[in-house]
Amino acid sequence: MARPLFSFEFFPPKTPEGASKLSEVRSQLAALHPRFFSVTYGAGGSTRDYSMATVLDIRQAGLDAAPHLSCIGASRDSLRSVLAEYQQHQIRHIIALRGDLPSGMASGGEFRYASDLVAFIREETGDWFNIEVAAYPEVHPQAQSAEEDLRHFKTKIDAGANAAITQYFFNADAYFAFVEECLGLGITAPIIPGIMPIANYAQLARFSDACGAEIPRWVRKRLEGYHDDLDSIRAFGLDLITDLSARMLQQGAPGLHIYTMNQSAVTLELWRRLGLNT
Ligand code: FAD
Repeated sequence: MARPLFSFEFFPPKTPEGASKLSEVRSQLAALHPRFFSVTYGAGGSTRDYSMATVLDIRQAGLDAAPHLSCIGASRDSLRSVLAEYQQHQIRHIIALRGDLPSGMASGGEFRYASDLVAFIREETGDWFNIEVAAYPEVHPQAQSAEEDLRHFKTKIDAGANAAITQYFFNADAYFAFVEECLGLGITAPIIPGIMPIANYAQLARFSDACGAEIPRWVRKRLEGYHDDLDSIRAFGLDLITDLSARMLQQGAPGLHIYTMNQSAVTLELWRRLGLNT
C-alpha cells in the first residue's frame, strides 16, 4: 500500500525569536518524516520575504519544503522570479492558491483564480513542481453553488495540479461526499484532508466564519462551555481531531495535512495516538 501523504503547515515567523522557536518545532516534527513542511504566503506577496526565509531554513535543514504561493494581486513577473528562486533551491513542491486580498486593497494583478496560477506554473516550469491546490469539502464561501465550486475545482486539476489539500472541517461526511463527487467527475488526484488543531475557541470561531468551515453545534456548545479553561479546550480538541483523523485514514483518505500553527505538541500527541510514530 502507498505510504500515506503526511505534511505539516507553518506560517512564516516575523521575528528572530519566532524563527528560532520554529526551527525547534520543525526538528521535533521532522522525526515524524512528513512528505514536506509547507509555508504560507500572504496574499499580495505581503509575507514574501518571511515566507522565503522560512522555506530556505527548511531546505538548509535538509528537509523538503512546499511553499504556498498566492496569485491575487500579483504580476506574472513577480511570480516568475519567486518560482525561479524556488527552482534554484531544488524545491519541487508548491501549493498554488488564489489568496484573499485584505479588505481595502485593490485587486489589480494579472491572475484571477488559482487555476490561472496552476496553468502559469506549468507554462513556466513544465513538470518541475508537484502542484497541490486547495479543496473545500464544505464549499468555498464565495462559490455560487456547490456544483459550481466543484466545477472550478476540476478546472484547477485539469490545469495541471497533482493533488489537493482541503480546508479544515470537523464533519467527516462532508469530506467523503466531496471525494465521491470528485470521482464522479473523473478526478482521481489525491485529496488530502487538512486537520486543524483546536487551541482557542474565539480564534477558531473567527477563522471558521471567514473560511466557511462549519463548527458543529455540539462542538461549539462544548467549547463555549469551557470558557477560559484552555486545558479543557485543548484536551477536547485533541480528542476530536484524533477521532476525525483516525476515521479519515481508516476510510481511505490518502494522508493528513496538519495546520500546526507553528506548534509541535498537538501533532506529536496525535501521531502517538494514531500509532503513526513508527
Ligand atoms: P480558487 O480555486 O481560485 O477559488 C476561489 C473562488 O473562486 C471559489 O469560490 C471558486 O468556486 C471560484 N472560482 C474559481 N474559478 C472560477 C471561475 N473560472 N469563474 C468563477 N468563479 C471561479 N491563502 C493565502 O493567502 N495564503 C496561503 O498560504 C494560503 N494557504 C492555504 C492552504 C490551504 C490548504 C487552503 C485550503 C487555503 C489556503 N489559503 C491561503 C486560503 C485561500 O487563498 C482562500 O481560501 C481563497 O479564498 C481561495 O483560494 P483558492 O486557491 O481555493 O481559489
